[in-house]
Amino acid sequence: MSYVLGLKCKECGHRVPVSPVHVCEQCFGPYEVEYDYAAMKGKVTRESIASGPKSLWRYRDLLPVDVPVTGFNSGFTPFRKAKRLAQVLGCSNLWIKDDSCNYPTYSYKERVVSVAISKAVEFGFDTVGCASTGNLANSTAAHAAAAGIKCYVMIPHDLEQGKVLGSLIFGPTMVRIRGNYDDVNRLCTEIADKYGWAIVNVNLRPYYTEGAKTHGFEIAEQFGWKLPQHTVVPTAGGTILPKIYKAYQEFIQLGLVEDNKPKIYSAQAAGCNPVVTAIQKGVDIIEPQKPNTIAKSIAIGNPADGYYAYKVVKDSNGWGESASDREIVDAIKLLAKTEGIWTEPAGGTTLAAAIKLIQSGRIPKDESICVCITGNGLKTLEAVQNDLPQPRVIEAKLSEFDELLAENEAAEKKASARAEPVGAL
Ligand SMILES: *Cc1c(COP(=O)(O)O)cnc(C)c1O
Ligand SMILES: [Zn+2]
Repeated sequence: MSYVLGLKCKECGHRVPVSPVHVCEQCFGPYEVEYDYAAMKGKVTRESIASGPKSLWRYRDLLPVDVPVTGFNSGFTPFRKAKRLAQVLGCSNLWIKDDSCNYPTYSYKERVVSVAISKAVEFGFDTVGCASTGNLANSTAAHAAAAGIKCYVMIPHDLEQGKVLGSLIFGPTMVRIRGNYDDVNRLCTEIADKYGWAIVNVNLRPYYTEGAKTHGFEIAEQFGWKLPQHTVVPTAGGTILPKIYKAYQEFIQLGLVEDNKPKIYSAQAAGCNPVVTAIQKGVDIIEPQKPNTIAKSIAIGNPADGYYAYKVVKDSNGWGESASDREIVDAIKLLAKTEGIWTEPAGGTTLAAAIKLIQSGRIPKDESICVCITGNGLKTLEAVQNDLPQPRVIEAKLSEFDELLAENEAAEKKASARAEPVGAL
């Protein structure tokens, strides 16, 4: 049974039945899926959810899909206490939600794409596509292949190799477009209109964005049916941040978790921070920017849902922080060394922002903090390749190894004599 009532405009409240539309016909605001929460009471419970599959579909009652066609191994990623990282930062209750190992293309995008492609098949589309900064293209191409549906992915021309090959392998038609993401997105809107395709993050956007809630549902369930006091989230187009908050609010409304007034924080790269700038200035107009950062997957200068990200941060009494490319790389390395998690620059941005929020006292060190890691470092080798030591080459002789080891130990002694705290930024 589906609890979906229909689509409702976020701005004027205008309602339309479920269909592949995204812009309100009355005011041009975005449509959002509306549910019958009253009907869910007593039926959607901790037990009903816990007895579901170990994938994002365990939250199907809170998603706008009748018949899932893909994503059966997506979502339900690890959530774990980051003890060694917490030690370095001097906090006591630090957690990582780790979508760097989300299946099959290693980013949070499996969540939105699984829902959007299932919905596209329900609507009877034979072709899907997306406007992407890389991860969305990877995920759309993979899930389209699994669902046996034609796929076009459109990306800016200058993405990382790992992101390009990571789509091509699944056999979509890929188009590299001269321009930045905002140019790509504009073209995709025209393509969706002209060819009648399901562009997952354009005309299927109301369904697509709902998939992002599962990141938040999982945090709440895996934290033992409670909410972290502070959740730090990367912001690109502004999908995941408001949807994590919506997930928390839905669980509160259904009585599944207690309302501890969770605060949400936006993380952006300094080279593309339109939402964080608005948050820090306290003005609800998102000024578009021209991106210039190594965090390409979150480099969206004119975010579609930037205003809603801004609003959730303000309503929840959170804040926004940005990170320089240097801080991003340092945070990637710190997370890898302390927790064994290799994230891409988006995750580096989120951790670097979290560190600044903790160090400035905005987030108290002894309260529960969740850092949302949304992508995998193996796709963005470029980000760290000039920042790691070159391994030495030796002959296959024990004496040469002995020598190397002695030199290493001497270097370590010298370093510890300088007494720099491990991994300090
Ligand atoms: C897409 C993406 C995000 C966030 O994007 P939103 O559009 O704000 O939801 C964060 N991290 C990674 C790795 C991404 O690919
Ligand atoms: Zn409207």
